[in-house]
Amino acid sequence: MSLSPAARNVLRSVAATLVPDGAADLDEQVARKIASLPRAADRAELDLLLRLLDSRAVNLLFSGLALPFTQMSADQREQCMRGWATSRVPQRRKAFQALKRLTTVTHYTTPGAARAIGYPGPLGPPPATPKPIRPVPITADTTLSCDVVVVGSGAGGGVVAAGLAAAGKDVIVLEKGGYRNEADFTHQEGDALETMYDAGGVLATSDLGLVVLQGATLGGGTVINYTTSFPTPETVRREWARKHDLPHFESVEYTRALEAVARRLGVNTDHAKPSGRDQVLIRGLEQMKWHHGLLPRDVRGCPQDEECGYCGMGCRRGAKQSTLITYLKDAAQRGARIVVNCDVRRVVIERGAATGIEARVGPHALSVRAKAVVVAGGSVHSPALLLRSGVTLPALGRHLALHPATAVLADMERDVRPWTGTVQAHYSDEFADLDSGYGFKFETAPVHPSLQALAAPWESAAGHRARMARLPQTALVGILLRDRFGGRVRVDREGVAVVDYRLSRYDRVHLRRAITAAAEVLEAAGARDIWLPLARDVSYRPGAKEVRQEWLRQVDAAGWGPNQILLVTFHQMASCRMGATARTSVVDAEHRVWGIRGLYVADASVFPSASGVNPMLTVMAIAHRAAGIIAGR
Ligand SMILES: Cc1cc2nc3c(=O)[nH]c(=O)nc-3n(C[C@H](O)[C@H](O)[C@H](O)COP(=O)(O)OP(=O)(O)OC[C@H]3O[C@@H](n4cnc5c(N)ncnc54)[C@H](O)[C@@H]3O)c2cc1C
Repeated sequence: MSLSPAARNVLRSVAATLVPDGAADLDEQVARKIASLPRAADRAELDLLLRLLDSRAVNLLFSGLALPFTQMSADQREQCMRGWATSRVPQRRKAFQALKRLTTVTHYTTPGAARAIGYPGPLGPPPATPKPIRPVPITADTTLSCDVVVVGSGAGGGVVAAGLAAAGKDVIVLEKGGYRNEADFTHQEGDALETMYDAGGVLATSDLGLVVLQGATLGGGTVINYTTSFPTPETVRREWARKHDLPHFESVEYTRALEAVARRLGVNTDHAKPSGRDQVLIRGLEQMKWHHGLLPRDVRGCPQDEECGYCGMGCRRGAKQSTLITYLKDAAQRGARIVVNCDVRRVVIERGAATGIEARVGPHALSVRAKAVVVAGGSVHSPALLLRSGVTLPALGRHLALHPATAVLADMERDVRPWTGTVQAHYSDEFADLDSGYGFKFETAPVHPSLQALAAPWESAAGHRARMARLPQTALVGILLRDRFGGRVRVDREGVAVVDYRLSRYDRVHLRRAITAAAEVLEAAGARDIWLPLARDVSYRPGAKEVRQEWLRQVDAAGWGPNQILLVTFHQMASCRMGATARTSVVDAEHRVWGIRGLYVADASVFPSASGVNPMLTVMAIAHRAAGIIAGR
């Protein structure tokens, strides 16, 4: 659905207000993004919002300006937008963020705009690496059959498929994304988001309070992730074993599963050469005398050079051991069939047993008949698929954990070039266990223009542009919160996943503590100006301790609610959690969906709660064990 002509007209003025130096067709590019949003309800809401913005009555009420937006002067438009950005009314902030994110990210991911702020863009063309996997082409309505059909090819799906194929099973893997390998990694941000991230990178919770980043490509999150490979922490294993009545998490069997996947991925700590960002982090932590350590990474022969910061858009060297070049390749070599661009709509459940799936591959219908179905679409889409298929367990979609992430950012004297160097190399667990294993980690992450555009407050076009122009000197301390209280995945009338999540009061206390500590780290590292990704532009120049305290007071006044502070989730977990009863969980200890024969889940959604560490290795260990169980039946 495209925007109505009236909404299109307002969008032109909005784009010119948010980014006055944007390309002539910026509004057209944004309109195309709106038209491709997965939910019809979101598209309709944006259309309505844009039309409301042109209502005299609405503007009089909210901004004291009895004018349609399109007839305001440039100053009046800016005043109006600022009012929406910083409003006390959550719906107005949500509306503003939708427009700000779409417009500024679209602008700064175009090569010309990025170059203008000192960002070089891709460092040369991609290599001509051949594609070792041959996906099955679907060129007409098709029915296939196999022993086990696996939905999703990420950390969970890839490992389970390889394990089952190794056990001699006839396996079909169905992946919604396309097959892109080294030869396709253009390292253009706009292209990478559009082709390898779910919903083109614009997925968010229903109130837009959290940006949801997840992979949607063959190999799933493992292709675009940051290679950090922590094993499941002992405290978390104990919690899952004892609190959730799942003793296998404390078993030797589970330890062996962790060891097996770490071995296949070549996890090591020999590739932790600090990037410019990491150097700032380490300097600050050492000054504070706080913990820091080398990150274990799933890389082989990673050069840890300038190009490595681009590996969130795919590793061109083939150093990152994604499932694409490990488990899926293993599975394909053992005869597993792989179908890409395949959106699984429904698991077929007949007389209490899963007998296959129904999917769309472009214009064609694909049915797969199977003795078992393994759902591994990730923690947003696995529960959505089960809900669409008529599974009605009370815990389904609930308890969703997101590891809400944010950062304290800083303007440094010298260039940091935060998009370059080892993708992640160091971390700190100084505050990882503030209360029964809950707390936060410090890590850094590469900052390309899109992330800076999301993070930089917009109270005026000039203020936002000034932060963008300081990208090369920007450093950050990333905060990864282990959230104790979760959200929920549901489906709308069309069966599209909707993510509801509100940061709990408990988790917010940890977040505030994290922000204070991260600011101290940046001060100790020599930051000149410290800021937060808030709706309000609240920053300070380090000086006496009181200066930081005054800043914190201003941060409190700016608010901690949705769209007052930017939160991003890179880790979605626990929405089909494993447990001991059908009342409190979705799968049993053997990955079986309660009450349905032949239906399994094997991805991050089965975590009983948040893992507290970057989850990939835990997902893989769980999937490794699941493959053994399913093959044995
Ligand atoms: C930018 C980024 C950086 C990250 N960095 C790290 C890191 O350094 N270390 C770490 O441990 N973790 C990291 N993660 C998280 C990690 O990648 C995920 O936790 C992990 O991949 C989850 O595994 P999964 O199998 O649950 O889902 P995924 O790996 O996301 O795989 C799910 C797949 O299923 C497909 N799918 C979904 N629905 C359907 C459907 N209906 N039909 C067909 N296919 C479907 C999706 O397209 C996707 O490819 C990062 C994530 C992101 C986004």
